[in-house]
Order: sequence, then structure tokens, then C-alpha cells
Amino acid sequence: MRFDIVTIFPAFFQSVFAHGIVSRALKNGLVTVEAHDLREYAHDRHRTVDDRPFGGGEGMVLKPEPLAEALEALGIQPALYQGTTGEPTQWVGRVPHSQAKNVGALAPERSKSSSGTRVILLSAQGRLFNQQVARELAGVERVVLVCGRYEGVDERINELYCDIELSIGDYVLSGGELAAAVVVDATMRLIPGVLGNEASGQYESFGAPDAEIAAEIEAGSDVEVTRVPRSQHGAGGLLDYPQYTRPAEFGGLRAPEVLMNGDHAHIRRWRREQQLRKTLKNRPELLEHATLTADDMLILDAIRAPGNL
Ligand code: SAH
Repeated sequence: MRFDIVTIFPAFFQSVFAHGIVSRALKNGLVTVEAHDLREYAHDRHRTVDDRPFGGGEGMVLKPEPLAEALEALGIQPALYQGTTGEPTQWVGRVPHSQAKNVGALAPERSKSSSGTRVILLSAQGRLFNQQVARELAGVERVVLVCGRYEGVDERINELYCDIELSIGDYVLSGGELAAAVVVDATMRLIPGVLGNEASGQYESFGAPDAEIAAEIEAGSDVEVTRVPRSQHGAGGLLDYPQYTRPAEFGGLRAPEVLMNGDHAHIRRWRREQQLRKTLKNRPELLEHATLTADDMLILDAIRAPGNL
């Protein structure tokens, strides 16, 4: 899989991708990341990439021409505005953003770029990036990320070249670079072969439910989930359970006894309860879309009982 990042700070990414899983994936060629300097596509003496906003107001805006040139140099064509004589004018090759949803928003028929490529504008006004979007992106051949700066990017770049606007959270960053790094990191680790233990992408916060994992095993998926001890549980949209390691006693607290006794069924049940407990406490809204069994509902009722949370 290939990531291209358009930015005024290409050097930003050198250290970001120089560690751990991401750097290993880059070294062994599973993934390529290239940062492209937007200023190379600005042709005046000062290599100007920004200008004052129409309508007045604070700050500067990334101007459209260098961005368009950078994207076209990467083989991204603008959506055409078809307005020939007598014909009603219409957009070709894109679905208005308002019609796309968070889930499935990256499906090829919605894309204005060539199949296998998705162009993403990092934006505080975007749809929220989450694990589901990361999973969708991990199935795409190439992702192009456009990093804004200052007050943002001229909207026509979004309209003409971008398939989706993504935000990494409800706060404003000073630039799209950190957000692009987050999208690349979260997506990359879901590409088969990138994680050391391939199953761990399933058995973690927001991971697949057990039923999906079981179906994959049945279908002979190359994800070797069978190697994972069945004390683990597919997260099914829940948060992960807490982890403990040696020493058994630390800071006056003992690690839970249940984890020491090697009874996998017991460990599994305890971990599931912890997942439900943590999700209810920290992210209760996730429970609305989580895959819950009758057993889970019983556990939740018990946790919700007065004085138990
Ligand atoms: N005026 C804009 C913020 C611009 S911040 C607004 O109020 O919406 C400058 C750039 O940082 C943006 O163009 C975008 O690329 C990036 N950025 C800021 N917050 C972000 C977020 N939550 N997610 C993704 N990108 C973000």
C-alpha cells in the first residue's frame, strides 16, 4: 500500500515514521510513504502557497493552484464540471459530501479519483476518522493525504480533488500533518503482515466481533486467529480489557488472580466483563453499536446494578 502526503512540512514525517511497527513496514516494503513538498509547486520568487481569505477575516488560506498542481503531479484528476451548450450543468465523478456516510464513505463508486486511490483532505470540518474508516482505507491501494495549514485550504480543492474530508477529533490542530500521521499509522497497522501477531488487530479496542473472526477462520482467511489463546475475545466494537504483567504485586495492588490460574474460559469471561465495564464507564455510546450477546447483556445488567459501576 502506498501513502502520498502533500504538505508544506515534508520533514515533519521523517521522525514520525522512523519507529516501531511503522518503520518496520516501510523497511520490509509492505508500505510506502512519500511526503511531497507543496512549495515545489509554487512558482513565484517566494514560493508562495497561501493568500488572504476572500471576505476578510483572520489569517491565511492555502491557495488552490499549488495544491492542484501537486495533486495532478500525483496523477489525481479534478472532477469535471460538465456544462456544454444547452445541457444542464452537473458534477461528474463524485457524490456530494452531504450524501456520503462515515461508514462506506470510501466505496469506489463514491470516489472521484481512480479506483484504488482515495484522496483525503485533513480538516477539522471533516467526518470523524475512526477504526471503521481505517479498516476501509487499509483495503485501498493508495491513499493521498492533503494537509492544510493556517485557516485551511481553498474549498475548491476539496470539491475538485478530494474524495473525503477527515477529522481526527473535535479539536483544532495547527496543521494537517499530525492528523495525516494518525491516519497513516492507524491504517497501516491493519494491512495484513504489518503487525507481528496478525490477530492482534482483531482482539483490541474497536476490533471485530467473535462471530466475524469465526467466519474468517471458516473461510480460511490468512489471518491466523487460531494461534491466539481463546482467553481473548473479539472486541466487537468495545474497548479493550486492561492488561497486567509482572510483578504480581505493585504499588500495593495485586494483579487479578483470575489471570494467573491458566483457566482460559474463566479469563475470557473476566476480560469480557472488563471490556463491558470500561466501555460503559468511559465510552457508553459505543455500546449502542457494539455486538452484544445475551451473556453480555446479563453482565451489563449486573455492572449497572446500583453501587456496582
Ligand atoms: N479554520 C479551520 C481550522 C484550520 S486549522 C477550522 O476552524 O475548521 C489548519 C489545518 O489543520 C486544517 O486545514 C487541517 O488540515 C488541519 N486540522 C486542524 N484540525 C484538524 C482535525 N481535528 N483533524 C484533521 N485535521 C485538522
